[in-house]
Amino acid sequence: MIMNVILLGPPGVGKGTVAKKLSERYKMPHISTGDVLRKNIAEQTELGLKAKEFVDSGTLVPDELVTKMVKSSISTLSTGFFLDGYPRNLAQAKALKTFSEIHRVLNFSASEEIIIERLSGRRTCKECNAIYHVKNIPPKKENVCDNCGSQLYQRSDETPEIIKERLNVYENETKPLIDFYRAENSLSDIDATQNVEGIVAQCVEILGASD
Ligand code: AMP
Repeated sequence: MIMNVILLGPPGVGKGTVAKKLSERYKMPHISTGDVLRKNIAEQTELGLKAKEFVDSGTLVPDELVTKMVKSSISTLSTGFFLDGYPRNLAQAKALKTFSEIHRVLNFSASEEIIIERLSGRRTCKECNAIYHVKNIPPKKENVCDNCGSQLYQRSDETPEIIKERLNVYENETKPLIDFYRAENSLSDIDATQNVEGIVAQCVEILGASD
């Protein structure tokens, strides 16, 4: 069965960490628009050059650029997917409807205090994008990725000012998607205050067995 799943929620709530676990369990790709944009920025592609100022300032990259990027990632798939970071506003949600069916939207929530603590301690692998946290999910060796041995870094949009801007963008532009998908009966609420295993267990309960 093809299962197309969106992970919705504020930055830092744990969508990326959980999406990676679900992706392994269900053998369906994790499409993170933030990861794809950062890769394009690092490689200075045409898309990366256009996206850089928005990502650096914590604001949204123009809809048409991101929608084109997601459409092309999805179009080649023969399986379902875990979409993380898209849609981010109503225009993107409406655009997505024109090229993909969505079966379930997992809506992650946690208090602002938890989110800020998670974002400010987050470390990301430069190579494989694995996500760590200095206290909650520390790597075995400080600043080194357990998976691939590459160096970990702190994202440039994880300074207190940019975190604040990203949370504002979530409140004003992304949060209305909760009502949008609830009205379509595809939304399930996830208590993201729990640890990673607890959050994954809630998602599996909703999505069903992987075989
Ligand atoms: P994330 O890794 O999901 O926190 O995304 C990092 C940054 O990438 C965001 O702050 C935006 O600048 C940009 N971005 C990611 N996804 C989208 C999207 N769907 N629409 C617009 N901008 C996006």
